[in-house]
This record gives sequence, structure tokens and C-alpha cells, in this order.
Amino acid sequence: MSRIENQFTVQFWGVRGSIPSPGPHTVRYGGNTPCVEMQVGGRRLIFDGGTGLHVLGQSLLRQMPIEAHIFFTHSHWDHMQGFPFFVPGFVKGNNFDIYGAIAPDGSTIEQRLNDQMLHPNFPVPLQIMQANLDFHDVHPGQAIQIDDITVETASLNHPGEAVGYRVNWCGGAAVYITDTEHFPNKLDENVLWLSRNADILIYDSTYTDEEYYCSTSPKIGWGHSTWQEAVKVAKAANVKTLVIYHHDPAHDDDFLDCVGKQAVAKFPEAFMAREGLILSIPVSVSLSESFPISKFSP
Ligand SMILES: [Zn+2]
Ligand SMILES: [Zn+2]
Repeated sequence: MSRIENQFTVQFWGVRGSIPSPGPHTVRYGGNTPCVEMQVGGRRLIFDGGTGLHVLGQSLLRQMPIEAHIFFTHSHWDHMQGFPFFVPGFVKGNNFDIYGAIAPDGSTIEQRLNDQMLHPNFPVPLQIMQANLDFHDVHPGQAIQIDDITVETASLNHPGEAVGYRVNWCGGAAVYITDTEHFPNKLDENVLWLSRNADILIYDSTYTDEEYYCSTSPKIGWGHSTWQEAVKVAKAANVKTLVIYHHDPAHDDDFLDCVGKQAVAKFPEAFMAREGLILSIPVSVSLSESFPISKFSP
């Protein structure tokens, strides 16, 4: 069994919400919008196609041909703007299964990816992409089976709707929950269900509680949550490792350092998502060694 076939890893390529935010004050955490790659027993799963997908695509050019499953939470710009710049999608011989829920207006993920590449917004239509693209509708609440990987799904609380995903493989579980807003007096049942006993929970922590409830400019109803709510979910769901994710574009590196210190004080196994962060999940593949969650930069 090769090293890659018994590993379950999570790598962050874009961690910023809403709009890319490059600049001298965001270099340590990164300015690209959402994209997370999971390598699951030799299979590649990608979550969201924000501008981080462009960077991931450049790294994949050294590994052609590529097969991957790409899951979209929803089609707000920050989650799909990298797709037209995903170079492996234009290369014949690559193979991508693409998943997304049907939007409230009835459009499929294929239609929405197609629409963002039409004139006058983009010069090259989706049909020019030469990789084999197979599109799949996600029905939130229903699981998706990819060989021995089970991907569970649930609806999130977000304007225009979004889907949360839980990846289960060989006793390990990684959960991807963005974009979502918490409820006032109780934890979201869908979020708790997806997060149950997870090894890794990646959670929409766009705001702090202070920003969310700010009397002069509250963020209530904007469709996002806080790192304090992330900690509540992680504790209630018995999560092992929490990742604070979908950073507000206005939060610079120093601000995020401060959030990280506060989060760790409340939940010791909390990490701030940053570009390049890789987390490993221990799995019980036969003959493989069990190893603790570790973090390192490439
Ligand atoms: Zn977003
Ligand atoms: Zn959104």
C-alpha cells in the first residue's frame, strides 16, 4: 500500500471570504477565496472554486492527468470565481466530477458555472474546457458515494442557500461548513449532525461576536457566523480539531493572530485557516499506522 493510499489529508488553498484580499497585511494567512483540497486514500476531493482553485490548478499541472471530484457549497462569486481560471479543466485527458445543489431559481451547478463564463463577463465559454466534466446534482440530506468514501450533505442557513459536506473514510471524518449563519438561541441541527465526532471541522467564522452583534453596524442576517459560535459547535459535537475559516477580507494578519489566540484559549485544538496549511487525519486502514493530527507547511 503506497503512502498516499492510506492517507487522509486536508490542504487549504483559499481561506478568505467574500472577495480576494491580497496585500502586505494579509500575506501570512492569504488573500485567496475558498478552496480546500482533501486527499482521501488516493482520491482527490476539492471543495469550492474560489480564487484558491486557480493556485491549486497551477500545482496540479505537474501531476497530469488529473482526476478529481469538485464540490460547490453554492455559487456566490467567492466560491466559483476561480473555476474559469482552473487550467487543468482546459486540458484533454483530465477528468472532473462536479457537484452542486440546485439553486432556489431552479438552475443547476452546470448552468451557473456556464453562465459566469458567458460574454461579456468572460471571453471563453465552458464548452471550450477540454477535460471531461461530469456534473451531478446534490440533494442536501442525501449522501454521495465515491468508491469507499461517503460524502454526507446538509443544507446551511445562507442567503440563496448553501450545502455543507462531511467526508467519511476509514473511520476518519472531515467536515466543510461554509457559508452559514447560526441561529439566535440554539445550535443548527444540520451543522451539529454533519459535525458529530468529526476529526476536523472547517467552519464559517467570518466575524467575531463583537462584530456580529455590534450596535451601530450589526452583521445579523448577512449569512455568516463567528469564531465563538464555531467553538460552541465544536464542543457540542465532540469535534477533535476546529479550523476557523472564511476570514473577513477586512481582517488583517495581526487581527487573525489575535482571533487565533482567543480561539485556542477556548478550544485548544483550534487552528486558523491559512493558505498552505495541511492537516492529517488518523485513519484505520489495515496495515497502516495510526498517527496523531499534525500540521505543517509545504
Ligand atoms: Zn463565501
Ligand atoms: Zn455565500
